Amino acid sequence: MNKFIQLIYYDLEQYTLGGIMVKLRYIMCLVFIAILSTTLITGCGNDSEESQSQQGDQLQVVTSFYPLYYLVSEIGGEHVNVEQLVATGVDPHDWSPKSQDIKNIIKADAFLYLGAGFEGWVPDILSGIESDSDVHVVETSNGLDLIHLDDDHEGEEHHEDEASEHQEEEEHHEDEASGHNHSHSDIDPHVWTSPKQAIELADQIKLALIEIDPDHKDDYEANFSELSAELEEIDQAFESMVQQANRKEFVVSHQAYSYIARDYGLVQQSIMGLSPEQEPTSQQLIEIQEFIQANNIKYILFEDLTSPELAETIAEDLNLEVMALNPLEGLTEEQQQNGDDFLSLMRDNVNVLEQVLQ
Ligand SMILES: [Zn+2]
Repeated sequence: MNKFIQLIYYDLEQYTLGGIMVKLRYIMCLVFIAILSTTLITGCGNDSEESQSQQGDQLQVVTSFYPLYYLVSEIGGEHVNVEQLVATGVDPHDWSPKSQDIKNIIKADAFLYLGAGFEGWVPDILSGIESDSDVHVVETSNGLDLIHLDDDHEGEEHHEDEASEHQEEEEHHEDEASGHNHSHSDIDPHVWTSPKQAIELADQIKLALIEIDPDHKDDYEANFSELSAELEEIDQAFESMVQQANRKEFVVSHQAYSYIARDYGLVQQSIMGLSPEQEPTSQQLIEIQEFIQANNIKYILFEDLTSPELAETIAEDLNLEVMALNPLEGLTEEQQQNGDDFLSLMRDNVNVLEQVLQ
């Protein structure tokens, strides 16, 4: 025993405390450097590999506005990198592209827009990029059962503010130049608001993705099935809500729900026109008031992205309540933060209409 303790003392004398610490520090240093360099090397390696493969494999898709962005994200899944041009909180009716947006379209593998005259800026861009881009351009409303308007609403255009009047003129100019007949006055573009039509849009998007990227056909079809099952569920909710409703008429500020009205047998009366800025004529205001009184309407439905001022004035005058129905044209910052999406807002619309149609 004594011998053993003596041995330890001997060892301690040989390797002084300072000597041990130096050795320890040296070893720790080596270990630390080894760990650090391994992390750095593997870390960097993974990062560059990952971003390279993502850039290489993922389809770069530019969409015009939120509903298309949502549908493409859901159907494309991990195989697509989707961008929406109209930013969160911005009304797509007022939007027009900046030069960076056009550059992004040119660089993309695919550019998906709605058509039906909704994006008045598209024909101009398409004629501009034809020669220097091989981007696949898809008009997603192509082949859908669109609502063509009668001539009753043509007068509305003259009552827009200067900004939209200017835009409208530009659109007409574009229409003439490109030979397109689409404009706000003959097709109602709000086709995405009805779950039945959203399924059709999703189907068009699925077909487009398969055509551009046939290698991932199975995934696109599986993602589409999942999405359309959810949309069919909402469609059923609309059907049973309408069956149980006491009335079919509803009054909205922005004329964005003609497809819901058509697909579920409801009657929409709007205060503003197809664009939220289109104010009614005094004759139309009289008709709206008559409609409200004749049908014993209790609510006016407005939306989040535009000011409900006129709707509120009418609501006040006629002692009506104001509620929000969502045209699903885009998310507000708040909705985005709350985790709302196209489907959750569509479900909210079922609940709002259920109350309004009681
Ligand atoms: Zn709209």
